[in-house]
Amino acid sequence: MGENKCIFCKIANGEVPSSTVYEDDVFKVILDINPASAGHVLIISKQHYKNLLELPSDLAAKSIVLAKKLMIGITDILKCDGVNLVQNNEEAAGQTVFHFHVHIIPRYQDDNLRLNWTPGLLEEEIKVKMLTDIRNYM
Ligand code: 5GP
Ligand code: ZN
Repeated sequence: MGENKCIFCKIANGEVPSSTVYEDDVFKVILDINPASAGHVLIISKQHYKNLLELPSDLAAKSIVLAKKLMIGITDILKCDGVNLVQNNEEAAGQTVFHFHVHIIPRYQDDNLRLNWTPGLLEEEIKVKMLTDIRNYM
């Protein structure tokens, strides 16, 4: 998608209004328009990057530091019982807005929100691949 049509670019530059709880030179933190739970916010980059795979590493590091501060503040102020950090990359992973963002989702005891999966079995073939190819890549 062209950056001129990207909804988060428009929010980042103020062309489209948003409920903004924080901003600095590189990020804006906004209320999600369709929250998964009370207090669900999004950290969005001011510059257009498709997702975390394209985000420069220094910004990735900054986004986690910002997420941590928000998580602590949100937990303290909303008195939530837990918090999920969710970050989707590509359609197969659930990404719907192709502009880098991090979800901070407050959790409440018995909120019935489902972010989980059915635990699988560790297959030998993938285990070997991870412990050889990925280990060498790192
Ligand atoms: P994704 O599925 O890409 O990880 O998450 C996209 C998120 O952006 C969704 O939670 C959705 O509710 C939120 N969202 C989409 N459009 C808008 C918008 O125009 N404003 C705000 N504040 N959030 C949006
Ligand atoms: Zn964008």
